[in-house]
Amino acid sequence: MPGTLYLIATPIGNLGDMSPRAIETMKNVDVIACEDTRHTLKLLNHFGITKKLVSYHEHNESIRADELIEMLSKGQNVGLVSDAGTPAINDPGLVLVRKARNAGAEVISIPGPVAFVNAVVVSGLPTDSLFFGGFLPSKQGDRRKRLAEVAAIPATLIFYESPHRIGRSLADCLDILGDRSASVSRELTKIHEETLTGSLSSILERILSANSRGEYVLIIDRERDGQEVRPVSSSLQERVAELEAAGHDNRAALKIAAKEHGLSRSEAYRQLQLSRPGDT
Ligand code: SAM
Repeated sequence: MPGTLYLIATPIGNLGDMSPRAIETMKNVDVIACEDTRHTLKLLNHFGITKKLVSYHEHNESIRADELIEMLSKGQNVGLVSDAGTPAINDPGLVLVRKARNAGAEVISIPGPVAFVNAVVVSGLPTDSLFFGGFLPSKQGDRRKRLAEVAAIPATLIFYESPHRIGRSLADCLDILGDRSASVSRELTKIHEETLTGSLSSILERILSANSRGEYVLIIDRERDGQEVRPVSSSLQERVAELEAAGHDNRAALKIAAKEHGLSRSEAYRQLQLSRPGDT
């Protein structure tokens, strides 16, 4: 009979959030797969657990999953943890869960911290319907396109964001979604936990002047009546064509589209040249 795969949530910054059941499960499994063995070893040491660790991260996920499935099919129990929070939530895990299910193994979640759940419950924004979008794309054009795609979803929008991009992402949210109510949380569960609430523009202003560090969760209210949602074309090429169709000459269209996509005019020109059919 196959063993069981346990998805074990671990703290997102406060070791006091490690649940007794998570500790117990880590002690009882045969092996623990983790993103970073050094990081997880510190956690195990803190709780006095000695266990075999194997690395399981985005670069070896597929091959390592096969090895772990082999162990499960021999009846061994496998624990999966990520560096922080719940495995498979913007962390490795999906591949292993699917393969484990296909192999007939049981998959059990040992619940615990998830950054976005904690951020949304302190935001004061509606929790009746939530859209979790993971990380916004790092390239500005892609990010703006994604924001335009989600703009009309009738739910509170939630994104993860890194410290070096939070300002640029908030500026794009403001531009594409309008000045909605929002909330930005950082350092959740840690000593310097902070949540800023208000309009997107006021949060952006405070973030830019504070120069704070930490990983962020960004929560944005759904579209409200009277708020304008600006559609963004799916590509630079399409936007230039749209602007030309609206009467702008090529030079002006390129200038506007470049600005909207956060590119210099020369970079936009270069990208347009590259995207022309037949070009190599
Ligand atoms: N698996 C994790 C979870 O359950 O939330 C998410 C992992 S994802 C790679 C890391 C992102 O989660 C960070 O960039 C940040 O957006 C968010 N995050 C994790 N810990 C956080 C914390 N203590 N405070 C605010 N955001 C956090």
